[in-house]
Amino acid sequence: MIDVKNLSKSFGDHLVLDNISEHISPGEKVVVIGPSGSGKSTFLRCLNLLEEPTAGTITFDGTVVTDPKTDINAVRRQMGMVFQHFNLFPNMTIRKNITLAPVRTGLMKQEEADAEAVKLLERVGLADRADSYPAQLSGGQKQRIAIVRALAMKPKVMLFDEPTSALDPEMVGEVLDVMKELAHEGMTMVVVTHEMGFAREVGSRVLFMDGGHILEQNTPAEFFANPREQRTIDFLSKVL
Ligand code: ADP
Ligand code: MG
Repeated sequence: MIDVKNLSKSFGDHLVLDNISEHISPGEKVVVIGPSGSGKSTFLRCLNLLEEPTAGTITFDGTVVTDPKTDINAVRRQMGMVFQHFNLFPNMTIRKNITLAPVRTGLMKQEEADAEAVKLLERVGLADRADSYPAQLSGGQKQRIAIVRALAMKPKVMLFDEPTSALDPEMVGEVLDVMKELAHEGMTMVVVTHEMGFAREVGSRVLFMDGGHILEQNTPAEFFANPREQRTIDFLSKVL
């Protein structure tokens, strides 16, 4: 589904991703963990060129994303992304937030998108909030909306960058539950998170990033039981 070859990214002379190669298969749930500043967000953002790689090749579903001739907007439509700070359009209703992209891109007519929005809102228990504005919702509600807004584009993969890090603790569970359901439905997911319970329960693979490298990776069971690198052990001792 996603193939990353020799990906490097520098900001000025600061090398943030150092020659990363990685392959993500359809249906995988890859959980990316690691200390702050290790390059997790940059890695995720390079996958859909929100950050432009300094070197390397990214292929998504057969399309070379890093080829300048590629229509990057067409690629991004198929890669849903959810951010720490929701990034909802504050001046639009929830319904409009969800239907804007599918209608603008011609994926759906407004009527069809509205019907789809109702279904998506029901799915996350927010059917009664279609006419609310983002500011009227709690953080957990906003993030559930951000997830279904991404799903409205019927993406082939979902990228999550610390989706629960900005939430009050009591709202983390409701967002993780939506993500778990999505995982069980077979969605291909790449999730940057500090939620180790989620990594264990949902992850098919854990990648540990440190200093711009994927230092080690394994199945969650193996990764948490037998971390190999000292940096991993140090990190886990702080977060577990
Ligand atoms: P993480 O998500 O693991 O905390 P990031 O990918 O956000 O790490 O950042 C990795 C490094 O790249 C950090 O040192 C950060 O300061 C730097 N960095 C990230 N984005 C930018 C940017 N737009 N300009 C300059 N430096 C950046
Ligand atoms: Mg980050």
